[in-house]
Amino acid sequence: MAYDKSIAAFEEAYKVIPGGVDSPVRAFNGVEGTPPFIERGEGGYLYDIDGNRYIDYVQSWGPLIFGHCDADIEASVIDAVKRGLSFGAPTNVETELAAEIVALFESIDKVRFVSSGTEAVMSAIRLARGFTGRDNILKFTGCYHGHSDSLLVQAGSGLATFGAPSSPGVPADLTKHTLLATYNDMASVEKCFEDANGEIACVIIEPIAGNMGLVPADESFLEGLRTLCDAHGTLLIFDEVMSGFRASLKGAQGITQVKPDMVTLGKVIGAGMPVGAFGARAEIMAHLSPEGPVYQAGTLSGNPVAMTAGLTSLRKLKSNPAIYVDLGKKAKKLVEGFKKAADAVNVPMVTDVRGSMFGFFFSDKPVKNFADAMENDQKMFAKFHKGMLDRGVYLACSSFEAGFISAATTDEMIEESIKAAYETLAEIA
Ligand code: PLP
Repeated sequence: MAYDKSIAAFEEAYKVIPGGVDSPVRAFNGVEGTPPFIERGEGGYLYDIDGNRYIDYVQSWGPLIFGHCDADIEASVIDAVKRGLSFGAPTNVETELAAEIVALFESIDKVRFVSSGTEAVMSAIRLARGFTGRDNILKFTGCYHGHSDSLLVQAGSGLATFGAPSSPGVPADLTKHTLLATYNDMASVEKCFEDANGEIACVIIEPIAGNMGLVPADESFLEGLRTLCDAHGTLLIFDEVMSGFRASLKGAQGITQVKPDMVTLGKVIGAGMPVGAFGARAEIMAHLSPEGPVYQAGTLSGNPVAMTAGLTSLRKLKSNPAIYVDLGKKAKKLVEGFKKAADAVNVPMVTDVRGSMFGFFFSDKPVKNFADAMENDQKMFAKFHKGMLDRGVYLACSSFEAGFISAATTDEMIEESIKAAYETLAEIA
């Protein structure tokens, strides 16, 4: 494939945008080649400015569960645009979207909309601290919760420790209240609670992690967290920005029996527009301004165009819950195909699927946490990624990202992707 126009566009972008991108992962740093500059999307396909067509398994990093340019979402958004882009005043569409979410999630009585997943998590943490009157929070190595200061704590040490900032510009004072534990390892969580004398405002977890590759939490681990949180008056937050409406209609909460105290959402609830949300039971949400003292606000929060896109998308999902069976089957077919292609050339691979989310690691052992994920063969991944891209298959450009199937992903696209995997692996093994 020729990428000449994208290469030139990247050089131009580099002159005026740091790294040429507005979010670091897009720069293709961990893989080979230049990121294709995208001209348009259609259904399950992306088209770049060189005229190359790709089967899209990134889907804007998750939001596009109906693929690109879904006719219903598009029509509702155009209709909303014609009535005005933003009012900074209450609208019915916010209440309608909130009501849909509240009806779906047992753990949410009230929900507040913001404009990104980062904002949702940042605000949820503030509310958890305000509600409990405690400063410490606990997160897991390898889980990503956006780029707000207190959550930008490096993955690293295996056992519980108070966190150090992972980025210059984040004062150590801001992360000293962030404790780090190991995913799927109760002993490391217990150690954190001991170190902090139980004084922890909240435990935040991706119940199905999608930011160290796809790594689901064990049910017994989630149960353990619930018990420990209850024993210490600590709030359990499920960050479902990625897994919400992806793993199932109710996200991870449609799969696990464990109920969180608070939930953060994003991606699919905006259907490609900037939306995030955080919700909890009424008693907790009552602490949020203007009802309560914990301050949180946003000029564009609950933006009517974004709310409309989300509402159309959610109602489409709710009216056809069987969609998740189909998405799951397709995801399974894809990764089973990848695995067979890897087996054929004796390259170790482990795979997993949760609803429309899929993951694969070039590794010969199950991946339960970030340390396991780090052991995957990243050089092999980089070569695989390039070979697939050259064959028209657009995969996330990092081995630490989940992949996504959309309603527009057809069986033919999956078969073509598996064929590309056989060819690529035969070439690079
Ligand atoms: N939480 C999780 C689980 C995420 O996957 C992400 C983004 O990928 C975020 C929070 C941050 O969301 P955003 O990029 O919309 O700020």
